[in-house]
Amino acid sequence: MKAPGVTVRPLKQITGDAEFNEVFFEDVRIPDSMRVGQEGAGWQVATTTLMNERVALGSGTTGGMPKSLGRGPVDGIIDRYKPVLRDPALRDQVMKLWVENAVIRLTGARAGMRRKSGAQPGPEGSIGKLAGAEFNQKLGVLELALQGAHATGWDPDDKLTEGVVRGMLRTRANTIEGGTSEIMRNILGERVLGLPKDIDVSRDVAWKDVPRSSK
Ligand SMILES: Cc1cc2nc3c(=O)[nH]c(=O)nc-3n(C[C@H](O)[C@H](O)[C@H](O)COP(=O)(O)OP(=O)(O)OC[C@H]3O[C@@H](n4cnc5c(N)ncnc54)[C@H](O)[C@@H]3O)c2cc1C
Repeated sequence: MKAPGVTVRPLKQITGDAEFNEVFFEDVRIPDSMRVGQEGAGWQVATTTLMNERVALGSGTTGGMPKSLGRGPVDGIIDRYKPVLRDPALRDQVMKLWVENAVIRLTGARAGMRRKSGAQPGPEGSIGKLAGAEFNQKLGVLELALQGAHATGWDPDDKLTEGVVRGMLRTRANTIEGGTSEIMRNILGERVLGLPKDIDVSRDVAWKDVPRSSK
């Protein structure tokens, strides 16, 4: 990253933070000593890295099958909004998310056990990434609703509401970062379920020869 020709430009997000960057490589030379894996195996290295990133994003840090599910993010919501949750319709939404989260965590635990036994991450990575991203967004929106009018403006000292609003805005990125939900569905459809692939006329063409709009 310190080599001449590498330019890093932070990208500002809707939350006001800039957690990631645009990185430009202009005529950058990378020495062979920094190569990861065998020559010609770059795609394999890239997909393995991405699969591991998805597992990390989708399942948290579950190292093995938990004896009991323990407390998850929805339990915190139940504690915080007990009086509001007297409303049966809201209670119903909260419990649906509790169950969804339990399924995600158990799937994550299965993926964790697979990795511990030395196997490559399986489809659980893409399933967890997809389900986890959509779950986070639903939970963010639900907690905003539970906050009611508070969520439209708050005291500078009200860290809970600020955290809820910032958290909800941050979850917007979950279905984009680490592979979008559309791409996750493509991977699950094509690689896991074996459905026919999209027609790709560039499949066997070198990247430098792939037609671009600017050519
Ligand atoms: C908060 C945040 C943090 C990030 N952090 C990092 C990071 O640390 N490192 C890093 O390298 N990147 C990072 N990213 C970048 C992220 O990985 C990309 O934004 C993401 O992979 C989508 O790529 P893109 O933005 O080029 O969108 P595009 O690939 O241009 O996609 C645009 C839209 O078209 C859809 N689409 C594209 N291709 C297909 C297809 N074949 N079938 C169906 N739909 C399709 C996508 O789903 C999307 O809705 C981050 C992004 C965000 C938002």
